[in-house]
Amino acid sequence: MRRLGLLFICIALIASAQHVRAEPPKVVASFSILGDLVGNVGGTSVAVITLVGPDSDAHVYSPTPADAKKIADAKLIFINGLGFEGWLPRLVQSSGSKAKIVTATDGITPLRLGSDADPHAWQSVGNAKIYVGNIRDALAAADPANTGQYRANAEAYLAKLDTLDRDVRDAMAKIPPARRKVISTHRAFGYFAASYGIEFIAPLGVSTESEPSARDVARIITQVKQAKIPAVFLENVTDPRLMQRISAETGAKVGGTLYSDGLTGEKGDAPTYIEMVRHNIKALTRALGD
Ligand SMILES: [Zn+2]
Repeated sequence: MRRLGLLFICIALIASAQHVRAEPPKVVASFSILGDLVGNVGGTSVAVITLVGPDSDAHVYSPTPADAKKIADAKLIFINGLGFEGWLPRLVQSSGSKAKIVTATDGITPLRLGSDADPHAWQSVGNAKIYVGNIRDALAAADPANTGQYRANAEAYLAKLDTLDRDVRDAMAKIPPARRKVISTHRAFGYFAASYGIEFIAPLGVSTESEPSARDVARIITQVKQAKIPAVFLENVTDPRLMQRISAETGAKVGGTLYSDGLTGEKGDAPTYIEMVRHNIKALTRALGD
């Protein structure tokens, strides 16, 4: 009888342990690239919810009532910071969420974009490694029982990022120095340029929020001709028609798509951060190589 009682206690303990494991802490990431990084570190120990999903522009995002529900009971909210998620403070306030907000760019030396900080720090793989360290530490602090798992996941993922960083450097070093410049509609590659020595020339007066005027386009065409820019790139968050016209009038190659601020869906070219960077390396190499 006593043995049977002990057996029941054991079964109850196992059942409750499984129950705990079945409900991992809920954490939120503000946009798709950060969601992928958090998912790689959190693994099966967390449930990651991403607010700005694939192929969407976090700069001009308008939160929905569903977003407020998503963050209401989250334990952590991971943000990029550096002014990227201007819409977030109001969303957090309206949701009544008590989540701790973790800024993934803490410890990164920001570049300037005009008079503001440039938020696109993830475009340097070295910076992405800092994001991963911050994510690991925040998850471990919020969920100490799984610290070992977060450390192991982070270590494995950081090793992949080391390989990725080396591959970007090797690929860019093979492009002739005089050809290491592109024009791109979205000023998202400042950190990539600083890390890997490719010059990204942004057309003046063009943002993801408005279409350029005829005068803007004429200015850009002059710019491409004068600077002998070998390639122009389209991005998944801007209208491609502008770049096609510039290409037709200047002879610059349309280099395909460079992904900057958002991943693609599962079936796209850039469903993960690592695949995004690898896609961009390939596109740059094809457009600028001999
Ligand atoms: Zn951007």
